[in-house]
Amino acid sequence: MKRHRNVKIVATLGPASNDYEMIRALHEAGADVFRLNMSHGDHAEIKVRHDIIRQVEKDLNSPIGILADLQGPKLRVGTFANGEEELVEGASFRLDLHDGEGDVNRVKLPHKEIFDALRPGARLLVNDGKIALRVKDCGADFADCEVIVGGTISNRKGVNVPDVTLPLAALSEKDRKDLEFVCELGVDWLALSFVQRPEDVAEARALAKGRAAILSKIEKPNAIKSFDAILEASDGVMVARGDLGVELPVQNVPPIQKQLVRKCRAAAKPVIVATQMLESMIDSPMPTRAEVSDVATAIYEGADAIMLSAESAAGSYPIEAVSTMNNVAGEVESDPTYTDIMAASRNAEGKTVADGIVSAAREIAETTDIKAICCFSQSGTTALLVSRERPRVPIIAMTSVEGTARRLCLSWGTNCVITGEVNRFKDAVIAAVRAAIAEGLATNKDMVVVTAGVPFNTAGTTNILRVAPCEERLIFASDHD
Ligand code: ATP
Ligand code: MG
Ligand code: MG
Repeated sequence: MKRHRNVKIVATLGPASNDYEMIRALHEAGADVFRLNMSHGDHAEIKVRHDIIRQVEKDLNSPIGILADLQGPKLRVGTFANGEEELVEGASFRLDLHDGEGDVNRVKLPHKEIFDALRPGARLLVNDGKIALRVKDCGADFADCEVIVGGTISNRKGVNVPDVTLPLAALSEKDRKDLEFVCELGVDWLALSFVQRPEDVAEARALAKGRAAILSKIEKPNAIKSFDAILEASDGVMVARGDLGVELPVQNVPPIQKQLVRKCRAAAKPVIVATQMLESMIDSPMPTRAEVSDVATAIYEGADAIMLSAESAAGSYPIEAVSTMNNVAGEVESDPTYTDIMAASRNAEGKTVADGIVSAAREIAETTDIKAICCFSQSGTTALLVSRERPRVPIIAMTSVEGTARRLCLSWGTNCVITGEVNRFKDAVIAAVRAAIAEGLATNKDMVVVTAGVPFNTAGTTNILRVAPCEERLIFASDHD
């Protein structure tokens, strides 16, 4: 499905977006990638959502990316008999290791190590910091707290303990099981929560065995310190502002977001800006002006993708939230200032032949009246390099590998088309011209740029650039003349 938008939209699925009609409507409204949060919902539910997405993909003949978000060593409370409770400022609230369902006085916090590390005076922040508790008294299996900032606490809300360093492994037993499960289902991206070191990424990569690309969620101070090495080890990055803004002073988040987005673009790896982008739309059909501005800022910064969490997973207006992002993107991307920023922030090119070809493709496309850049890319690497150029003309990423098309759904500007096996450059040009016309990007009077690598089907060989007229001779040529 050709979209008139370059930044991609990731929508988290949940109770508010479970069925075929809703997931299809979200995709049609603009969601390019769906996020399955492994912290919520069991394997059976995850499989149902996964299968629905693949059905929508098939019915609309349009590749869709699926990102499975592994919980990682995140602390979460257990469940409540009533699903949720209101914690009032000044009240007492106990966290413990007991199995019974929670109520207004207590809830389970199923992490033994936290009780060993807690001390009176430590702060516990719940639900991305919306609720604050202070430990008054604690033991090996409980912590009695005072509610400092009240609010609604509900099932499995996250808990941060910014004052205490906890000895937690990057992948829990649950994460390993979840990873294997979603890799076998066939998700395209794995998001790793609370990455702290490049070794954490390597560990997940070894388990994924090439079945999914690895995206690091940056939400820990340590991840900021080792960011360059983590980026090198990852296929993509998420600026996970929820936990980041709890682990660090909240005012540190905007400059970090800017820096990370810039570095990811330089490395030609997709970066998602996530959390609270349209938070008020959980309960309201209209966003606040500040939220609209936040979405716009992420786009002006050059992010590959912007994300909805609870807005689409558990809110009352999932489709409106996607449409809002889509509309904001439309405005920003048609602003000449945006085009100027994308050009001015283009990083010094790399030194490979492929770097040279993609940069030339963009220049040719922008100096003459070229309608699209069609790049053949099996692994997706060349498409990522074209995307990094942030060209003013549409990118058509042509690949015979379905998984590549799906992964590229996260990358700025890539319209993915799955082709049959192409073995000769001549066939590549024919396929590219047909795709440009089928996507509605060119007519038989127009020209496109085609890049490819010869010999075909060898990774990392992009070495040809052709300016091709979309002549009828090509459009109607039989496949083998
Ligand atoms: P993370 O730290 O990984 O972002 P989160 O708890 O903040 O975890 P999100 O997916 O960002 O989760 O937000 C979605 C919110 O929607 C959750 O806090 C939760 O209350 C609610 N929700 C309920 N069920 C689901 C589900 N199956 N999938 C996702 N979110 C759900
Ligand atoms: Mg998080
Ligand atoms: Mg979240």
